[in-house]
Amino acid sequence: MPKARSNVSGFPRIGPQRELKMATEAYWAGQRPLDQLLETASGLRADNWKLQRAAGIDLIPSNDFSLYDQMLDMIALVGAVPERYGWDASSGDVDRDTYFAMARGRQEGGVDVTAMEMTKWFDSNYHYIVPELRKDTQFSFSSRKPLDEYEEAKALGIETKPVLIGPLSFLLLGKAAEGEFDRLQLLDSLVEVYARVLEELGRAGAEWVQIDEPVLVEDRTPAELEALERAYRRLGEVEGRPKILLNTYFDHVGEAFPVLAKLPVEGIGLDIVRGEQNLDLIRRHGWPQGKTLFAGVVSGRNVWINDLERSLGLLGELRTLAGDDLVVSTSCSLLHCPIDKRNEPNLDDEVLSWMSFAVQKLDEVAALTKALNEGEQAIAQALDSNRKALDDRSTSERTRNPAVRERMANISDADARRQSAFPQRRDAQHHRLGLPLFPTTTIGSFPQTQEIRQARARLRKGQIDEQQYLGLMRGEIERVIRLQEDIGLDVLVHGEPERNDMVQYFAEQMDGYVFTDNAWVQSYGSRYVRPPILFGDVSRRNAMTVEWAKYAQSLSERPVKGMLTGPVTMLMWSFVRDDQPRSETCRQLSLAIREEVSDLEAADVEIIQVDEPAIREGLPLRSDRWNEYLDWAVESFRLSTCSVRDDTQIQTHMCYSEFGDIMKQIQEMDADVLLIEAARSRMELLEDWKRTGYENEIGPGLYDIHSPRIPSTEEMAELLRLAAQVLEPEQLWVDPDCGLKTRRYEEVEPSLRNMVEAARQLREELVPAGR
Ligand code: GLN
Ligand code: ZN
Repeated sequence: MPKARSNVSGFPRIGPQRELKMATEAYWAGQRPLDQLLETASGLRADNWKLQRAAGIDLIPSNDFSLYDQMLDMIALVGAVPERYGWDASSGDVDRDTYFAMARGRQEGGVDVTAMEMTKWFDSNYHYIVPELRKDTQFSFSSRKPLDEYEEAKALGIETKPVLIGPLSFLLLGKAAEGEFDRLQLLDSLVEVYARVLEELGRAGAEWVQIDEPVLVEDRTPAELEALERAYRRLGEVEGRPKILLNTYFDHVGEAFPVLAKLPVEGIGLDIVRGEQNLDLIRRHGWPQGKTLFAGVVSGRNVWINDLERSLGLLGELRTLAGDDLVVSTSCSLLHCPIDKRNEPNLDDEVLSWMSFAVQKLDEVAALTKALNEGEQAIAQALDSNRKALDDRSTSERTRNPAVRERMANISDADARRQSAFPQRRDAQHHRLGLPLFPTTTIGSFPQTQEIRQARARLRKGQIDEQQYLGLMRGEIERVIRLQEDIGLDVLVHGEPERNDMVQYFAEQMDGYVFTDNAWVQSYGSRYVRPPILFGDVSRRNAMTVEWAKYAQSLSERPVKGMLTGPVTMLMWSFVRDDQPRSETCRQLSLAIREEVSDLEAADVEIIQVDEPAIREGLPLRSDRWNEYLDWAVESFRLSTCSVRDDTQIQTHMCYSEFGDIMKQIQEMDADVLLIEAARSRMELLEDWKRTGYENEIGPGLYDIHSPRIPSTEEMAELLRLAAQVLEPEQLWVDPDCGLKTRRYEEVEPSLRNMVEAARQLREELVPAGR
């Protein structure tokens, strides 16, 4: 009987103490030679391989390491370097300078080239470099990285499985650089480079190669599936190639399943955690004879221990369906989780016993494999402590707060509905606020200056006390209020100087969250994040922002907005518990924020903004689940905001994405005012609004805060005029695309002055009747 084996799809490369970041940034800053960076990098790779071997992993990945991003590595591998970097394909492999120039742009010695675009890797918080493709893009085998790393491991006596991103995903995740065209036209020539790579890997002795095709978990057209088939037919023919594991993750493969079943590949990787329907697909279609199933049962997307017994049940069924030749795998690369929970001295043993980071997940994969091969008694001890931890977690008062549960049970439909319909609320709000036509406002944050950051650092180090810190922040708020008055903005903000981060700031004031010291996860390149961990029932301890809001309002006659982060964004930007549906966790967050909204209202705050920048990125990868998600996401927002009176105005802000396809749901959120990113895409949204309309008030962002550029009055006035043609002038607000936190005052002040002037111009041009 063939033995089950264990597999890891990818391991975090940043190092347990962020060694890669330190080394890379020192190299960029010219403080260290390239050699030292490369030495750190190979040290990290060696440590990772040894760690996995020691844990008993059979199929250990290589080429999962990257100095910046694995998609960028693929761009180098196939020689798809955009022309502006001046790289010459006949000059040999892509050099390090060109590689980093693509990642970060280059500005030196009279050269000034922009970086390549970066975007989110599916629904994770990782960002990849987007391949730029042109009709005439020529591919060539231009980097030996996969081979070098394979050989490097081999020299250490470790056999590895090189990892590549597949040709279909490479093309579909890329973008047309100029003028749309069918990117699949490039497939055949691209696949030839892959064929060469496979040939060489085979020659080097690789037994397996893992080719990731995560695009198969999104809705795919018949033409795309045909392309998939064509590509892998060709790769299947490569003489002397390694066995191919075609790997997918993050959801189920749906209509691609029957196509996958026919491909000349030896292994298929399926995510059984997030793509539970994969199980149904196997039941329905049967497992293709002779192929090995790589069953992703240990999540690479969370920080929680696996339910070993449950996984064993699943694996047992899968073995019956797919045969004994089964591989126990992570659900995706472990890149998305922190490295080692043993690096968290400040978490208590109970919470830690519920957690599993990358290093612990290796043990889980190995234990499950062992149980399949030797029977459950072979891991009796692991099973026992696993069951105890799960039981403890499900009964602990820290995960189940009766008061929260009771509040949840008492939610009624009316709680998620404003007292009156929008027109009535609008009249009450106009009466109370008395704002001009085209009211001007900002999104919330003002520049986080050096002084602000220093003050926070000094408080942390105990160099100043709480009172001194408060004093400094108050001074900052006063400055920001005076500046806004001077610029002539109508609705003011306090500037958010006291917030380290829009999610963490609130999470720190709620029960149900813990924070880590070293649980970093790569977001992109050398930027890593440390998301708060939501482990239990969430509740607000005390009012979170009311004192700040009262203080800010006391400084001005004009309305100053209360400023909160919405429940969906809190959920999306945290690691959240997996022992209850996300919708329920989100609802708990809503209740906590709802209390804050009510407290702000009671403190006479007239306008409350509840930000939901992350609402779009929560959309499931497959459209068949969009509605289910949007239903609870919209309901959660409403629940957090609908307690207020008619004359209290609720604003919301959204950014970072295209909203055209969810405009209907955005309308259903029923915020009185929607401040939405629009300038960066040159008001593409207007086309959508022509189609769908928008009934409440709306502020399409008039300038891109991601750029240091100062927009002119004229260009912002022009955007406003465009908006006023599609929407009613009475509906329109005037605002930037997003918060100003990352900008400098030299940019912000003139930009806002121009923006206020643009509003004034429009008021003169368009004086509608009755206002
Ligand atoms: N109010 C927040 C700010 O201005 C919103 C940030 C965001 O949309 N990401 O910073
Ligand atoms: Zn924003």
